[in-house]
Amino acid sequence: MKKRYLEIDPWKIIETEFDPQKVKSSESIFSLGNGAMGQRANFEEQYSGPSFQGSYIGGVYYPDKTKVGWWKNGYPEYFAKVLNAPSWIGIHIHINGIPLDLYRCLEVQNFKRELNMKTGIYTRSFEAQLDEQTRIGVEVKRFLSMEEGALGVINYQLTALEGTADLTVDSFVDGHVTNQDSNWDDPFWDHKMKHCTKDLVLLHSQTSKTNFDVGTYAHSQFFDGKEKTLGSFETLEQDFRISQVKTHHLKKGEGCTILKFGGYLNGMNHRATDFESKALELVTEATEKGFDQLALEHSQAWEAIWQQSDILIHGDDEAQQGIRFNIFQLNQTYNGKDARLNIGPKGFTGEKYGGSTYWDTEAYCLPFYMATKNQDVARNLLKYRYNQLGKAIENAEKLGFTDGAALFPMVTMNGEECHNEWEITFEEIHRNGAIAFAIYNYERFTGDTQYIPEMGIEVLIAISRFWAQRVNFSTLKNAYVMLGVTGPNEYENNVNNNWYTNYLAQWCLRFTSAQILKMQKNQSDLWESLAFKLNWKKQELNLWKKIADQMYFPKHPSQELFLQQDGFLDKSLTTISALNPKERPINQHWSWDRILRSPYIKQADVLQGFYLFGDHFSKEQLERHFDFYEPFTVHESSLSPCVHAILAARLGRKEQAYAFYLQTARLDLDDYNNEVEEGLHITSMAGTWMSIVEGLGGVKVKDDELHIDPILPDSWKTYGFKINFRGTVIEILVSDSGTEVHFKNSNLKVFCNGTRV
Ligand code: BGC
Repeated sequence: MKKRYLEIDPWKIIETEFDPQKVKSSESIFSLGNGAMGQRANFEEQYSGPSFQGSYIGGVYYPDKTKVGWWKNGYPEYFAKVLNAPSWIGIHIHINGIPLDLYRCLEVQNFKRELNMKTGIYTRSFEAQLDEQTRIGVEVKRFLSMEEGALGVINYQLTALEGTADLTVDSFVDGHVTNQDSNWDDPFWDHKMKHCTKDLVLLHSQTSKTNFDVGTYAHSQFFDGKEKTLGSFETLEQDFRISQVKTHHLKKGEGCTILKFGGYLNGMNHRATDFESKALELVTEATEKGFDQLALEHSQAWEAIWQQSDILIHGDDEAQQGIRFNIFQLNQTYNGKDARLNIGPKGFTGEKYGGSTYWDTEAYCLPFYMATKNQDVARNLLKYRYNQLGKAIENAEKLGFTDGAALFPMVTMNGEECHNEWEITFEEIHRNGAIAFAIYNYERFTGDTQYIPEMGIEVLIAISRFWAQRVNFSTLKNAYVMLGVTGPNEYENNVNNNWYTNYLAQWCLRFTSAQILKMQKNQSDLWESLAFKLNWKKQELNLWKKIADQMYFPKHPSQELFLQQDGFLDKSLTTISALNPKERPINQHWSWDRILRSPYIKQADVLQGFYLFGDHFSKEQLERHFDFYEPFTVHESSLSPCVHAILAARLGRKEQAYAFYLQTARLDLDDYNNEVEEGLHITSMAGTWMSIVEGLGGVKVKDDELHIDPILPDSWKTYGFKINFRGTVIEILVSDSGTEVHFKNSNLKVFCNGTRV
């Protein structure tokens, strides 16, 4: 862990020193987003020091041609990347001819950044000594409106603290952007048109190949210290950098403000021919409202979000700040308004992972959105996959599967597979199981029984068809086996009979069959038309039953233990306590073959199954498997500690559960993995939420009823949270004197520590 440099505060993230070494980390941590767009916390003024410039738009991507050493048939042609978009935040300032640049000025004092998670407003202030005579004070406020997805607002105030200041303010939109992770340095954007008037700068750009239209717009206003508008800006065009420029003179002690409105018009929502009129409409409305009113509306939107999703921890501000940061970032990334969007592992805070959809969404993020929003939000996450079912079937066909079998992609933007490492692309097929499980999980939690017959059943059938073709019958074992797979533990590749994958497949075949029988009984007309559409054959049910009943699971020969895969016991089974701390993380120190031969587990694998299917196993079974696998687990995926936190809590192991919780909650704030510069771990943030609600809070649905079995960590006085269970908001407050559960619905059965409340 690097030295902590951010202050502890229950509602705020605070940085109080300017350190060029930390700029990239802080750019990630102070990132802003509103579900439709997001940006790293880059400075508005010039900055010539090391920085990672990033601004991204939901759903807009480029298919970057695949780059691999050895091409294998079935590899996708491209990797979809959410693109670094033209920047609209730039406000470059020259003072007496000297650029305001924190990396170059003589001295920076009183530097402070603050992200107020309660209001969603990010502020930054500093004093810069530019030369012997000139000292400038700056205060910036910025937010991306939670009310209007295409609107961002910057309030940039300058004061001449010492000396007089001849200012040149250059407020611009800049189309010169690239992705750091570009494979071939392709030009991602084709700039079509620029519009540059005193009232509006607008750059119409189109992504190469995918032809997404984007209008990046900005409008700036200039006020003197007395809030009076000081005339309009001049315009300046330099290639694809278009500016509004203003000069002004400040006497010592005088100040001025630049108010900038800007953002992106996304061609997915507006016709490109309407960009100009739409931008003018946004700007006119924003100007009429002004900064304070817009900030108020934005803060009210956040207030409503916190009202439902806040987790309150008394007695531990570190933990409090950690969980709020996670909840805040999840809400900045996805708001569920648009079923075409999803949750990339880095959200809008970086480029790694292409910004695309992984199994993380179903396995980790769905529970958070189900419980903290109304049910449409989670339904939209499921619909995203439903809408991509055709592509998942095509994807499976490319790999030789037939008859409507679907393999959903490991990584995707539009439903096509983008991942190109064979051991993951072709073999990490458990992702299909997580998508099926999410359908079941959604129905049992929200009580929306319409989703499966309307859409979910088609996805379930296609996935079951895949499992039925992916297994083969082993005469030696007299059972169905699944060969050549990679489980969630990516430190094992091409293994046979990964227990977790086989278990998911067995469960999925049975669950799908039960859903079909239910539809045949209750909605026979709907089923008949569906059966016709899907070319369904009666024998499929028989085959699925046979496979499920005869599925093979690797087991320890003498102990009651499921093995992660065939041959796991052949490994040299030394636990991680024997590892040299200097060689951790092993993925940065060991050769790949050494990792593969080792018994070390990247992230929960068998235990992921025990997490999903908690009800299927006794506490003793869980304990045995936890104590066997945890000592081999290196947690080198951010998705790992949360699962272990939940399982430790289910075992009543308070200290261990709490330790795992802390590992996930402050992962980015304390930069445990020394990589926060690249962006935040958005999807594992949902795991942090699960660690509290499903782990410490012990919330689970069992036999169609809600159970709450909480434990209280020693260092916490109380904690409380709300969940929206089947349309009823349930408030849970845990303290050492007991647990309070509040809700208004006399028909709902809720059990706390086994007793109905
Ligand atoms: C994990 C995967 C995960 C991906 C994106 C990898 O390191 O092993 O399970 O889907 O990151 O978060």
